Amino acid sequence: MRYKRMNCDILVVGAGASGVAAAVAAAKRGASVILLEQNKFPGGTAIIAMHNFICGVSRDRKGLLREILNKIAPGERLIKKGRVFLLPFKRERMVLGLTQIIKNEKKVRVFYNNKVVSLRRFKNRVVSVISKNARGRMLINPKVVIDASGKGVLIKLSGAKYKISALSKKQLSGFSFMVKNIKGNNGALAWKVPYSLTQGARAGELPKYFKFSLFSSGYSQGEGFIRLNIPPLKQGGNSKITNKKAIFIHNYLRRSLAEFKHSYIKQVSPYLSDREGIRLLGEYILRKKDVLGQKKFPDVVAYGYWPIEFWHRKNGPCFTYLKKDGFYEIPLRSLKSKNIDNLFATGRCISADPYALASTRVLGTCISLGEAAGIAASKLCAYF
Ligand SMILES: Cc1cc2nc3c(=O)[nH]c(=O)nc-3n(C[C@H](O)[C@H](O)[C@H](O)COP(=O)(O)OP(=O)(O)OC[C@H]3O[C@@H](n4cnc5c(N)ncnc54)[C@H](O)[C@@H]3O)c2cc1C
Repeated sequence: MRYKRMNCDILVVGAGASGVAAAVAAAKRGASVILLEQNKFPGGTAIIAMHNFICGVSRDRKGLLREILNKIAPGERLIKKGRVFLLPFKRERMVLGLTQIIKNEKKVRVFYNNKVVSLRRFKNRVVSVISKNARGRMLINPKVVIDASGKGVLIKLSGAKYKISALSKKQLSGFSFMVKNIKGNNGALAWKVPYSLTQGARAGELPKYFKFSLFSSGYSQGEGFIRLNIPPLKQGGNSKITNKKAIFIHNYLRRSLAEFKHSYIKQVSPYLSDREGIRLLGEYILRKKDVLGQKKFPDVVAYGYWPIEFWHRKNGPCFTYLKKDGFYEIPLRSLKSKNIDNLFATGRCISADPYALASTRVLGTCISLGEAAGIAASKLCAYF
């Protein structure tokens, strides 16, 4: 088979929030970087699952995190919701901001519509990674690789040690759909929608997990987003599944709430997004007790501010808070593979137990983790 061949210092797989931060941080330190993304845009889960808020951001922002947030949420301020702070953002702005940030970094070459499909290893090192697009295949020879795929693509292909919860123990996955022409959306729908779906679940008209659904208002009059949180599926969930469930719930809401009577679905997430998947087995596993005990590490590279937000299959979201104004540290060892010498993980697949991950996986923390992985990878390049 013929390949387009390329060399680079660092290969980052996945242009979600953490992957973009990793690529840019490494390039800023002089490394030549290739960033591969299977979608045709950056942003990953934040765009696919239609997020409206960046979680896990403190008032005190420094370095690349600050630069990225200024680009993707310009002029936005933290808002307090209960005991946590959220940074609102618009998805179009995030895609544009991340695209610009990548473009500004001359040492980053980004390839969209490119899916990593296989990899070659020599002893304990990844030596090449193969990706596929509509026109053919690319073979990339990197010195160091960073898995920012959210689902541990490089971890799995390289034979790195990892952990994964049994399907029955995994947290709920989720997706969203956008509804237009909602009448009288005055904020009350944030409780009316979950209430109505809970009634439906209690009456046996809807599967039980629909009671964990959320509603948030959109940017314009009559627009709203419904987030459905459902059990993860073995093969992931494609657009056939998300469309079917969105239509089912929308029809239910049209029958049960007058505000939805003349509404219509404008957009549905193209696939189901998992909150939890493959977790690297790193040199250190960040644990629930480290998060809640706000443990300090000598090799700290990132800080976490978000509570443990665990989406139980039966009980729905369960928040365990840090102390007031508290934060915890994440060590570099949680980003570094135990058995593959040139592999780092960032974002949603770092080395953490499921509860610690239920805090570290939010966007603010993922951006900081990406920056940390990029810096560490650029330092490691010097040795290869
Ligand atoms: C339902 C749900 C709701 C959430 N709500 C919020 C919220 O409101 N606020 C918040 O801050 N956080 C939220 N989170 C958490 C947050 O969205 C994610 O954990 C975070 O986006 C992870 O970032 P990441 O960069 O690690 O991975 P991702 O954003 O998932 O990016 C991974 C990228 O890798 C690409 N990729 C995957 N496989 C390949 C491959 N083989 N080849 C090439 N590219 C590949 C993907 O296309 C994707 O773009 C939510 C998560 C879920 C699942």
